Amino acid sequence: MSYTEDAQTRLRRAGLRLTTPRIVIYEYLLSHRTHPTCDQIYSGIKESNPGISLASVYNVTEKLAEEKLLIKIVAPDGERHYDSITDFHGHFFCLNCKKIFDLGCKPDLELEELKGAKTTDIHLSARGYCPECVRKGHAG
Ligand SMILES: [Zn+2]
Ligand SMILES: [Zn+2]
Repeated sequence: MSYTEDAQTRLRRAGLRLTTPRIVIYEYLLSHRTHPTCDQIYSGIKESNPGISLASVYNVTEKLAEEKLLIKIVAPDGERHYDSITDFHGHFFCLNCKKIFDLGCKPDLELEELKGAKTTDIHLSARGYCPECVRKGHAG
């Protein structure tokens, strides 16, 4: 299945109308799992889709996050990033190169402190310096 078909299938399954901006932006996020910002998504799509404005990138990502087709992550610098992987995973934020890596950990819902609670959301995030930045001596 192509990324376009995948985007269309997921949008349809969520009961959303298939508009060109939604398909193009979602397809971009499904094929670029680098946690881009709206600016980065816009730069990535504008050449082949001159009809899509930065404002519609903001609107579409917000809508798709609302519908749980994307997750919105806020980096330590306050910048919003979008992720098309919606299964639970954590994120590592590099404070030097600003890269965001996925952490494959599973949530520990057996936590003693959560016994009897109804958890609706759990986030795992770590920050520091990525291996490449450490190797190059940029670790703080
Ligand atoms: Zn780094
Ligand atoms: Zn991620």
